[in-house]
Amino acid sequence: MSIKLNFLNEEIAKADEKINGYPAATQDISVNIRNRQDCIDTAKYGPMNPALPNNEFWQQKADMFKTTVDEAKSARCGNCAAFIQTSEMIDAMAHGLGGESEAYAIIEVANLGFCEIFDFKCAGSRTCDAWVVNGPITDSNSVDEVQLEETMKSLKEWFKEKWVDISRPKAGGGFEPCGRDDANTGKYPKCVPASRAARMTPEQIASAVRRKRTAESTQTRDGKKPIYVSTDKEKVEKANIPTDPELYARVKAEAKAKFDVYPSAYANAWLVREYKKRGGGYRVS
Ligand code: SF4
Repeated sequence: MSIKLNFLNEEIAKADEKINGYPAATQDISVNIRNRQDCIDTAKYGPMNPALPNNEFWQQKADMFKTTVDEAKSARCGNCAAFIQTSEMIDAMAHGLGGESEAYAIIEVANLGFCEIFDFKCAGSRTCDAWVVNGPITDSNSVDEVQLEETMKSLKEWFKEKWVDISRPKAGGGFEPCGRDDANTGKYPKCVPASRAARMTPEQIASAVRRKRTAESTQTRDGKKPIYVSTDKEKVEKANIPTDPELYARVKAEAKAKFDVYPSAYANAWLVREYKKRGGGYRVS
């Protein structure tokens, strides 16, 4: 058996970089380990050995998704929309492992795929906090590459973004991070990406916090879903209106039937693409 693990002596290639036309992490084990560690640190990728009960790990996932342990266990890399198992990707991974038949056998036994969000080879039986419904991506269901790249790029940016609570300014400047231990008590938070918070004026912050608290105290929650309030007041006033509401409603109904979770970044991307593909447009109100 000649499994080849490539260690580069040069500076580690950055995510999204290619080596000989292949994703770098499929060819260079050190890039793969680094990106996998990023996924462990950022999104609690695991468990280490999926064959063990890992009760604590699955309980944490169930708590995070506010569901049962059994349901949490059904959300794995193997059915995540970021998990790529096209023949092209399998060839890339096999090439990085030496390209011989043993390499393909390892990929099959470990049910390996390539995580498009964190850029590393992940195992189908593991999972992480960034799991997205409706995968894997295979030859038979691979979507338009440009669209896929755009969707994954926005998911990547969204997941890695640092979020802050603009209703809780810190004494020396900036804001407390999002998420509190006392989530069931105290005032409602208003969380936005830190980069966004830095661009907001005091008036915009006060307005966003006020509208969020008004909505929280006057609207009814759908189950445990948070109540969403646009951070940007102008956006509320200048919404994108579909120019063909009937077509939009039809495609939206299809998206709801097609995807297990709606709305979601993946379902929304599909809806927008499909609506435009069928001739739909938008106007600003
Ligand atoms: S994003 Fe999906 S494929 Fe990537 S590690 Fe998380 S669960 Fe696995």
